[in-house]
Amino acid sequence: EANFPNLVQRLEDTVSKEHFHLLKLIGREADRFGVNAYLVGGFVRDLLLKRPNEDLDVVIEGDGIEFANVLAASNGGSIKKHDTFGTATWTTPDDMKIDIVTCRTEYYAETASLPIVRSSNIHEDLTRRDFTINAMAMSISEHSFGKLLDEYQGIEDLKAKKIRILHPISFIEDPTRIFRAVRFAVRFGYSIEGETARLAQSAMSHLFSLSQQRLRQELTLIHKEAKDLEAFYLLDTLNVWKTLFQKELPASSWQYAERVFKQSGHTVFHILTALASPLSNWREMIQLYIMTAKERVFIEQLNELKQAPIEEIKSIGELHRYLYAVHDETLRFYLLDPTQRFHTHLDDYFKKRQKISLYLTGDDLIKLDFKPGPHFRDYLFELEIKQLNGEISSKEEATKWVLKEKQKAEANHL
Ligand code: ATP
Repeated sequence: EANFPNLVQRLEDTVSKEHFHLLKLIGREADRFGVNAYLVGGFVRDLLLKRPNEDLDVVIEGDGIEFANVLAASNGGSIKKHDTFGTATWTTPDDMKIDIVTCRTEYYAETASLPIVRSSNIHEDLTRRDFTINAMAMSISEHSFGKLLDEYQGIEDLKAKKIRILHPISFIEDPTRIFRAVRFAVRFGYSIEGETARLAQSAMSHLFSLSQQRLRQELTLIHKEAKDLEAFYLLDTLNVWKTLFQKELPASSWQYAERVFKQSGHTVFHILTALASPLSNWREMIQLYIMTAKERVFIEQLNELKQAPIEEIKSIGELHRYLYAVHDETLRFYLLDPTQRFHTHLDDYFKKRQKISLYLTGDDLIKLDFKPGPHFRDYLFELEIKQLNGEISSKEEATKWVLKEKQKAEANHL
């Protein structure tokens, strides 16, 4: 236990007046009811760092749900119980919401969705947390309001700017912590403490105990950080990519990924694809991470593009015949590939394709006495190819051409 001199003041400065009074009230009720109440984890960390944090949960040493009922019974408002998690949300008469949580005994990723909560004490709760900076608690019980519990020298690590696990088997218990370590390191500009980094590296084979979904989730959280590219490199130093892709990534992986990072609207999946792209078995590797139908199409189209004889197709119009069905997203992504050489050619096609507007529409064809039908699409597609090639460059020319085609077709019919 340690005393951080101005913690109460810090809290008062950080949360709204209403929330501060609510916490005081909860502390009074906790004393009266005979349980201890704490603010814990990320909230306390951010309080010490003077960073905003909206995640105001109160952790109860005792039965959180029972205590929440007591709060509502004597102060009004309503309670919503989440039995499996030992959690209740108290909505106060002033319509403030606060989660009342029971001390946890498990934080493992794969059990996170199971009803695992057994009530325990604050020490047991803290000892199961991920990093020293996330394992501090501040009492809000009236008799010790503002007292800091820092059993793992979290304050010291905040000062030294270190991400440090609490126990040597921490990453093996829960490999998502490898990603969490990186996330917090880049967010705060901290380093992963030496022994912690070494233990992360030696836990690499345990990454395979995580579901793809879980992996994607952790990577998505990392991707939301401002310094996401830095985080992806940090994962590399821990051997994460070498493990997941079963091979050291070449420099071109990073060149590709850096280009993709700069594109607006890119997703984690695009980054993973860029990283895997230079590998001979890239498709097999990335297959595992596909989660949506759109991603499946993206990979299939990318695969087609990679195999298309693009350098041999000289006219833009013919390229269109080959690539018309490929989505803009896929083409744009492919054009960033640093290992491909035909960029001006394809780039030109892509630019023209995006700008093109046809001189004729289906309505125009009807006006020209065409019978509506599926062949409309064929005429318009051929027109598009001719426009892309610059063979047709006005509505008159387009009309002339299509009428000639009609004649030809009618002649063939006779
Ligand atoms: P963020 O701002 O990203 O939400 P946070 O620290 O609040 O940061 P959460 O994922 O909301 O992160 O977790 C809240 C707290 O729960 C953490 O501070 C940590 O003490 C604990 N925790 C969360 N996940 C784990 C885990 N996988 N292993 C151990 N402790 C965890």
